[in-house]
Amino acid sequence: MYLVSVETVKIKDFIFNTNKLKTIRGASFLLDYLNQVVVNEILNKNGVKKEDILYVAAGNAKFYCENKEIAQNIEFEIREAYNNFAPDSKLAISYIDSGSEKIWDAMDKLAKETNITKNKGFSKINLDLPFIEKCNICCDNPVQIKKENFNENLEKYVKNFEPYLEKENSKENINEKLKTLNDRYKIAYQIFDNDKVKGICPSCFAKYIAANLIKDDFQGIGFYSEFKKEFKDEFKPVDSLEEYELKKSFIGFMYSDGDSVGEFLKNAKDNFEDENKYKEFIKNFSQILDKYTKSSLIEVLKELREEKKLDEHFGEFLIVGGDDVCAVFPGHIVMEISRRFQKKFNSKMKDYYKTCNFKIKGSNITSSSGVIIAKAKTPMYYLFDQSLILQKNAKKKRYETYENKNVDLKNGFIDFQVIGSEGTVNIGDFRRGVNNLIQRPYSIEKMDFCENIDGLLCLIENLKTSNFPKNKLRMYYDLKCEIEKNPNKSMENLFELINTIVKLDSEQKELILTWIGKENLSNSHEDTLKNILKNIFDVIELYDFVGGSK
Ligand SMILES: [Zn+2]
Repeated sequence: MYLVSVETVKIKDFIFNTNKLKTIRGASFLLDYLNQVVVNEILNKNGVKKEDILYVAAGNAKFYCENKEIAQNIEFEIREAYNNFAPDSKLAISYIDSGSEKIWDAMDKLAKETNITKNKGFSKINLDLPFIEKCNICCDNPVQIKKENFNENLEKYVKNFEPYLEKENSKENINEKLKTLNDRYKIAYQIFDNDKVKGICPSCFAKYIAANLIKDDFQGIGFYSEFKKEFKDEFKPVDSLEEYELKKSFIGFMYSDGDSVGEFLKNAKDNFEDENKYKEFIKNFSQILDKYTKSSLIEVLKELREEKKLDEHFGEFLIVGGDDVCAVFPGHIVMEISRRFQKKFNSKMKDYYKTCNFKIKGSNITSSSGVIIAKAKTPMYYLFDQSLILQKNAKKKRYETYENKNVDLKNGFIDFQVIGSEGTVNIGDFRRGVNNLIQRPYSIEKMDFCENIDGLLCLIENLKTSNFPKNKLRMYYDLKCEIEKNPNKSMENLFELINTIVKLDSEQKELILTWIGKENLSNSHEDTLKNILKNIFDVIELYDFVGGSK
């Protein structure tokens, strides 16, 4: 038997190479469609048995087939389909002769093979010649489609779908839907008139078409389809974030990723002797991971909807599946969404982990997330890059927290950053300057020695409900800065800080004392006092983005 791996690589380049919400949405749909419909159909056509498919999920596929010829043929057909449906998408396909090797050894060997393939890189023909007209959407690829040849290109593109239309549904019906796409959604008008594009490349063209297929809930593919089951007609796609009613305000970009998936799988194989049982386990696991990611997000959105904390236009789902959630929400609610999502996901995965009953404990999968709050006009790829930096911070914190510690179950973390009107920020430089004023990243679950996100968000909500004056928080912040910057005068500034707190009215003083964690300030040691309000900047930065109000 041959063991084959198909991975979609450079997914983020494919999705975020334009700043248009429509094409981003379409790109994401195309990858889901290729993975869920096209790859499955190609495997089926090539006689791959259901029980030999380990998984087809989140852009990847792993399966056994009879021999090398079949593996090669499958590779050819999958590459051709990706090329036709989603020009410019990248694949890493590799296979090995698994011979008499045990499934876990074969999978290790294949993983190494896949890494070699990935490290070879993915060449791109450089057509950076001045006389070649560039696509008006991605500003990168040469123009191939213009108003004049739009219809023939659309007809040709739509033909790609023919072999993959659901057999149980009436094929004619869907075919009809595809043929009338342009009439119903005026795609040519969208591109050439509305978006004032002169020429477009095949990749962006495909994404535009796919974006319109989402409106049709085409073959029930992708997260939007599941979302629509719950929220029906509340899905009202817009073309750019600036079109949101929250035009002038802030948007929140959330990027959550599963922690220690690799470690989990590595530990898993030591618990199996029966190859078939391991096969079952792998199949089951990839479905559970995907299901819990999607259901956790849906449940959170439903909750917030019921609590009337979310507007109708409330989200853009860029990547939701596997262990990833990359999505845009209104700025005032994104922290709450991420916090609740992570908590739900972690708890579901912990329950699942307990049922696995592994010999080695502590390799449960959790979510770590990076949240960026920024002006709606900030470019998407920038939001993505910055949220990735924050997500990595959160993961690093998780790693450091558990390094050399034996625990049965681990927790997840969250990091965040507000990018104000300046539009850009170097997160690393910024953090060095405010070391003793922020405590990010925060833990999702309550733990010893870690600041917990519930505590921070709850504190801010309490400050807001009690109408705590924002200028006083600013003053505390300034004094704290002075104490850090100016050690000679630190006693003086510390005294002033304590003095202003002591003078607060009793309700507000109570709040600050709870925050500080001291019942009485007067008999505390100087060094302890220097450490109070050490997350003051976290509070100030998130102040306007917590508590559900806009
Ligand atoms: Zn393009």
